[in-house]
Amino acid sequence: MLVDQKDVLKERLKEVFGYDQFRGNQEAIIQNVMDGRNTFVIMPTGAGKSLCYQLPALVQKGTAIVISPLIALMKNQVDQLNAYGVQAHFLNSTLSKAEINKVKRETLAGKTKLLYVAPESLTKDENIEFLTKADISFVAIDEAHCISEWGHDFRPEYRRIRTIISKLGNLPVIALTATATPKVQQDIQKNLEMGDADVFMSSFNRKNLYYEVRPKKHTKKQLVKFVSGHKGKSGIVYCLSRKKVEEIAELLRVNGFKAAPYHAGLEPAVRIKNQDDFLNEETDIIVATIAFGMGIDKPDVRFVVHYDTPKSLEGYYQETGRGGRDGLDGHCLMFYSYNDILKLEKFNKDKPVTERDNAKILLQEMSFYAESTVCRRRQLLHYFGESFGKDCGFCDNCLNPREKYEAREHLQLVLQAVDQTEQRFALQHLADVIHGTENQYVLSYNHNQLPVWAKGSSQPLDFWKSVIRQALLYEFLEKDIENIGILKITPKGAEYLINPVPVTFTRDHNYSTDEVEEENEKEAPVAQRAYDEALFSLLKDLRKKLAKQKNLPPYVIFQDPSLEEMATVYPTTTDALSQIQGVGMGKVSKFGKPFIEAIKKYVEDNEIEPATDMVVKTSGTRSKTKIFVIQQIDRKIDLKEIAEAQNLSMDELLSEIEHICYSGTKLNLDYYLDDYIDEERQDEVYDYFMNAESDSLRLALEELGSNDYTEEELRLMRVKFLSENAN
Ligand code: ADP
Ligand code: ZN
Repeated sequence: MLVDQKDVLKERLKEVFGYDQFRGNQEAIIQNVMDGRNTFVIMPTGAGKSLCYQLPALVQKGTAIVISPLIALMKNQVDQLNAYGVQAHFLNSTLSKAEINKVKRETLAGKTKLLYVAPESLTKDENIEFLTKADISFVAIDEAHCISEWGHDFRPEYRRIRTIISKLGNLPVIALTATATPKVQQDIQKNLEMGDADVFMSSFNRKNLYYEVRPKKHTKKQLVKFVSGHKGKSGIVYCLSRKKVEEIAELLRVNGFKAAPYHAGLEPAVRIKNQDDFLNEETDIIVATIAFGMGIDKPDVRFVVHYDTPKSLEGYYQETGRGGRDGLDGHCLMFYSYNDILKLEKFNKDKPVTERDNAKILLQEMSFYAESTVCRRRQLLHYFGESFGKDCGFCDNCLNPREKYEAREHLQLVLQAVDQTEQRFALQHLADVIHGTENQYVLSYNHNQLPVWAKGSSQPLDFWKSVIRQALLYEFLEKDIENIGILKITPKGAEYLINPVPVTFTRDHNYSTDEVEEENEKEAPVAQRAYDEALFSLLKDLRKKLAKQKNLPPYVIFQDPSLEEMATVYPTTTDALSQIQGVGMGKVSKFGKPFIEAIKKYVEDNEIEPATDMVVKTSGTRSKTKIFVIQQIDRKIDLKEIAEAQNLSMDELLSEIEHICYSGTKLNLDYYLDDYIDEERQDEVYDYFMNAESDSLRLALEELGSNDYTEEELRLMRVKFLSENAN
């Protein structure tokens, strides 16, 4: 490459994109493309792949074709380029006939520098015909891992790209991806017939990301606690289903966080708003399906949570990669449950056989990763074919003590098993042979005759799988790239067989015991909880005393279910108390203090560890209705109108109102009551409640029935009474 050309590139970098310097190996990559060579780029998300084809496209004559799978992303990039003053267009199914013609005209006239094309559009005859007439500089294939059926994001139409490029002439190709295991890399190069390509691989290590995996237990509570530790900071919570996204976004909102959902099922306008709010910091947390994040470049994402176990390490790594792009800390927390893995396996059951088998392998890798106690970074980088020769000291496994053992004999057995089965078998089979599982498969190969057979029968099968995994991680074994799943001995492994030295391995996490299914975790009704009876009666006495002082019936202060719940979760702060059913902030400030003090003392005296130091509010599914009702009552709207507007019967509206009132919110219904019940009758009911034993409606009706009160009147008066005295 000429010195002049080098200068030109730098100049254009500054002039067009405003950057002073190339990052990482961008410059080398760009030069390679300019030299007309096939180029394969593997670079983590956010490292600056786009520039690697955008800049050469600008500098060179003709139009570069960019193949990209996501239409939304395409538009985004084209908009950005246009904003830089670069002529770029896209060709996909969203365009009208007239727009397509315009794009074609400008391209044929040589004006368009970059033409983004969806793979589906590329394969259309009329487009191929048009492209053969155009002056094409090179072809860029973004998200190239989509070509490989061994990866996590296989798109069949990608496999036809090569045939079409060939029809357009002998064009140089640059393929780019942010995730590719060695197997997938090989598959991409093979399929694109670019075995000769120069490969540029950047390190995938993200030093500033902290990786952590926790068992999926009491996940909601854990999540609320976790995000509380990052209050006001930007974060992403990934869930697998739209429904979960909605639920978790609501959970976080109810608990006082600025959170919004994002998934493909939302109205486009809402989705865009939520995304923009997140980018503009109106929203701190975006709860999303994996549809979120492609092309999003928010530098200060401080945490990425995987609420559900992801489908593959590729996806996981890409998603966590959205954290800490500014180089500052990013906490990546994943909740893992083997049940999730089983669920995901079930989703795959309708897929074609190969695809299903591949998906299963990806899931297996996921569960190995989660259950392993080996340094997370080491595992992740190894998975992507990068060797990281030490533990990182910045992941949960590095920081937490794990059970270690001397593994010389175990490793020897594993290597012997691979050797004796002639390096032609996969992990499960090898574990079976060492453990001594007598299945059809083992017997059909006569592997029960091998010297190594059943040598490890004193240890469970899973133990051997873990040893084999570590043998892989520490590079005594390697995966055979040609034959998926098959393990072979590395030179290091061969050396070890001759000269075995002490080696330390770690025992896997045991997540399988007492796993709590999320579905069963819904708040149990208060009444079913076993509560602390001693505390309950103590609180009841306190209530009686207080009621006397205040000259109020005890139930006005707190109702029994509230006391039961207090005797279950031991709230010792105003915040915690306010989250008890039937206790709102109003009641906390009016009556809370002596109760909190009593509970504190009780907890201390009895050395009780509060069951929860964080009470997670659950979101009532109808909370929107409640907010609406409160607002309308504040505006003194006729109750009948409110009911109509919400499509509720009067009875349902009353239930909502009661629920609001019993949760501690003061409602002023006077504007309605005064029109509806005359003063004298109001006084009578009010007096009744002041002197009653309880707020029971049935008793009230019996007692006052002679005066012909309707149930509705009594219920409304009860709300008035409680609002004025209890809340
Ligand atoms: P990728 O496609 O690899 O995820 P992008 O191409 O979207 O990454 O680039 C990520 C970010 O880095 C973008 O904001 C881009 O403008 C910026 N960027 C790329 N190259 C440079 C550079 N040489 N100097 C500064 N910023 C850059
Ligand atoms: Zn580590």
